[in-house]
Formats: sequence, structure tokens, C-alpha cells
Amino acid sequence: MTSQEIRQKFLDYFKSKGHLIVPSAPIVLKDDPTLMFSNSGMTQFKDFFLGYKTPTAPRIADTQKCLRVSGKHNDLDDVGRDTYHHTMFEMLGNWSFGDYFKKEAIAFAWELLTEVYGIPKENLYVTIFEGDASENLDRDQDAYDFWKSHISEDRIINGNKKDNFWEMGESGPCGPCSEIHVDLRTPEEKAKVSGLELVNNDHPQVVEVWNLVFMEFNRKADKSLEKLPAQHVDTGMGFERLCMALQGKSSNYDTDVFTPLIAKVEELSGKKYTGILEDEKDIAIRVVVDHIRAVSFAIADGQLPSNGGAGYVIRRILRRGISYSYRFLGMKEPFLYKLVAVLQEQMGPFFPELEKQGKLVAEVIKSEEDSFLKTIENGLIRVEKLIQQTIANNQKVLPSEEVFELYDTYGFPDDLTRIIAEEKGLTIDEEGFKAEMEKQKLRSKADSAQKVYDWVNLESKPETFVGYDQTESETYIT
Ligand code: ATP
Ligand code: MG
Ligand code: MG
Ligand code: MG
Repeated sequence: MTSQEIRQKFLDYFKSKGHLIVPSAPIVLKDDPTLMFSNSGMTQFKDFFLGYKTPTAPRIADTQKCLRVSGKHNDLDDVGRDTYHHTMFEMLGNWSFGDYFKKEAIAFAWELLTEVYGIPKENLYVTIFEGDASENLDRDQDAYDFWKSHISEDRIINGNKKDNFWEMGESGPCGPCSEIHVDLRTPEEKAKVSGLELVNNDHPQVVEVWNLVFMEFNRKADKSLEKLPAQHVDTGMGFERLCMALQGKSSNYDTDVFTPLIAKVEELSGKKYTGILEDEKDIAIRVVVDHIRAVSFAIADGQLPSNGGAGYVIRRILRRGISYSYRFLGMKEPFLYKLVAVLQEQMGPFFPELEKQGKLVAEVIKSEEDSFLKTIENGLIRVEKLIQQTIANNQKVLPSEEVFELYDTYGFPDDLTRIIAEEKGLTIDEEGFKAEMEKQKLRSKADSAQKVYDWVNLESKPETFVGYDQTESETYIT
């Protein structure tokens, strides 16, 4: 099954169960004081959960473009280093707004995975919330009982608050959840260790695919939980992970979501992707094909790279991609922009914004590449000078203030400074550099006078709007 067919099957299934199919909301949120990006499918529906707005339909399904690079859900450090966390990914979701609840949500998910997609039942595990005494939350016995009618009890695992109580951010709608994990290991590997032990354990072939959240609470700014006016279902399934499972692959990057992009990077760089986890070149290729998606979709939704807020996050993601390809793929000229056409061809039919804005996206990326590559070249000259001075002073450690200045004022990545210094037998003052970073974080935190607000109905209380940057001002991307 191609990824296009997999996506369509999901939407068709929920349509056949009475769900209204809606388009993805933009990846960048423009009217939300507590969140910069859509980090899950539910963000566009939160006012429905909170009772501020009447749902357009009691049952809805879609695929949502998500970005997890800041705030509570930040996967950036894993991207490229593992095979199943992305910055931008699609979250397939179905919702019930005060309509069906746990029993039906569980039955739908099970039928879709095992009967429509044909995933063998013996490859699946499910988790349920074990409860949490400190918050007076009970074990989710209802979910357990409903699962029992589909799956043997030894495959139902208790999960803690970290994994099985879903929260969108520091505040907002939340509730216990029940997740489905798939075991994609070979029979030989399975014989060695039970999949039960590998669920939620960072195993690249035993991965979480679907989260069924039972929305019952609102986390308030003072951290207390209040009951929502009604009970809702909010589910999210990682599209790229589902494709991995259905296409018989062991990495998201081996599915047809990524292979056309990887082929283009191979063609342009002359480097071959071998899929090795620790290989620097392979990490760089995964980073590049991941980041180009995040940046392209953000720009197509109208968020240009800039020096503040969401635009700054996008700029830093793009620079991270440029920096990896400069260092590990030897790409000294702009080339990322050439990937946009590939992405457009592949995703354009489903996401018209990419189709429409492709030309602009490529132009913006090219000009960012031009200027950041100049920054890198200029920075290299400064680093070289600094190294000469340090050697002339009979020192072996580059002073932290200068390394930080290169990073902060000239935008030169500190990891590049580190590598070049090491090549000359020098190191950088890591402790001092960390301290400079901390100082800067404190400065920016103070600047934005961090506050977290309860969810508010912006239409009726516009005065409570505090800007996009408030709860995510600690975002730091290398
Ligand atoms: P994980 O534990 O693997 O980090 P999660 O519990 O943080 O995932 P949820 O918030 O439950 O993820 O999101 C619902 C689904 O979205 C997950 O079950 C997973 O399939 C998918 N997903 C979450 N984060 C990512 C990501 N960074 N890249 C790709 N898919 C993701
Ligand atoms: Mg996660
Ligand atoms: Mg999880
Ligand atoms: Mg989860």
C-alpha cells in the first residue's frame, strides 16, 4: 500500500463511521497564547472540548500537520538520531465531541488496524492509564474492560502518567489515554525478548502508533484539574509510523514518505544513504529530509523564517539542516531548496497549500541558504583567527566568551567551532560556554515575562491575548 492509499483508507474508514472529514489546520498557530505550532491533531478543536464553541459535527476525522520542536512536546534532539521521531509529521485523528466514548473509540481503532489494514493481532500491544494517587486519578478500568474483548489480557499494559495521561501543553484539555504499540521485529528477535518489555522503551521496532485520549479534564494555569463539561475522544496516529508498519519497513525513512526525498539528496550530494543509526552521513540525510518538510510546510502556511517567535524557530530548523549538510554531506552551495519540488510532487496532491506556494517556498529557502552559508564562511574566518590567537598565547582551550559571541552574534553553530578546534588539537571551554548559554536564556526569559494562562475564548476576551511566544520562550534549537 502506498502512503497515499494508507492516508485515504484512514479517512474513508472514519467517513464510513459517520465522521466529517476536514482539512488539516495550518501548522503554525496564529491565535493561541499558549502554543506556537500544532503539536497534535486536537489543537484546532480545543475550543470544542472546552465548551467555548459548538462543534461543527459530533464526529470529525482528518490528518493534521504537526510540529514538535518546542514547548511540552519537543522531539528535535531525537530527529535524525532515531528512525521514528520527526519534527513535522502527520497525525491521523478521529474525534468525538460529546458523542461516542471509550468503547467505540477502542473498537474503531482495533477494527481499522487489524481488519482494514490487516496488522496481525499478535504484533500489537495496548496500554492503559494505571492511575495517579497524587492527582486523585483512578486506574482506567473501563478502557481495560473494553480492550479485554479484543485482545488477550497479557497484552494490556499499565502505563504511568508520563505515557498514559495526555496533555497538550502546560495548560489545556487533557485526560487518560490508551495507546497501541506495534512490534515489527523479526520472529528470531521476538523469541529472545518479549515485546511486553520493550513497549515505551525506545526500541526502534517496538513503537507507539496510536494514542486514544479520553478528554475529561482541563489543566488550569494553577496546575489543578477541572472536569470538562462533557466527555470527548481525541485520537492521534503517527502516519509515518503506520506506513512503516504497513510497508514492512524497519524505519520511517525507508517508507515512500521519505524515499523520494532521500533519493534526491543522494543525487545532489553524491552520498549514499545506508540507513545506519550512528553514521554521521546517514544522520545528516535523515535530518535534511525531515527538516525540509517542517520548513516547507511552515512557509507554505505563511510562516516565513524570521528573527522572532515562530519564524525564528523555523529559521533555526532550516539552519540546523544547512549546518548538518555542510558538515557531513559536504554541501557548500544552496541545495535544500531543490528538494521542495520533490516534496511538492509527492504531497501537493493532498496538501494544496504546498502545490500553490511551492515556488515561494523554494525561493525563501534558497535565500536563507545563501545567507547562512555566507555566515558559515565568515564564521570560519573568525574561528581560524581565534584559533591562531589561542595557539599564539600558548593556550589549548578556546575562551568561552568568544565562542559564545560567534554563536550568538554571528550565528555560527557552536558544534562547528568545536569540530574545527578539535582538528587543530584544541578544545572549547564547555563549562564556560554552557554558563553563557544559561545567562542568555535567563535574559530572554526575563524579557518575555513568562506567564501561563488558562485557555480562554479569544473571541469573547481579546484582552487576554498575550502573544505567541509566551510559554515557549525557552525554545532553544542548535
Ligand atoms: P512517543 O512516545 O513515541 O514520543 P508520544 O507519546 O509523544 O510518542 P502522542 O503525543 O501520544 O506521541 O502522539 C500521538 C501519536 O503521534 C503517537 O502515537 C505517534 O504515533 C505519533 N508521534 C508522536 N510524536 C511523533 C514524532 N515526533 N514524529 C512522528 N510521529 C510522532
Ligand atoms: Mg513523544
Ligand atoms: Mg509515548
Ligand atoms: Mg503517546
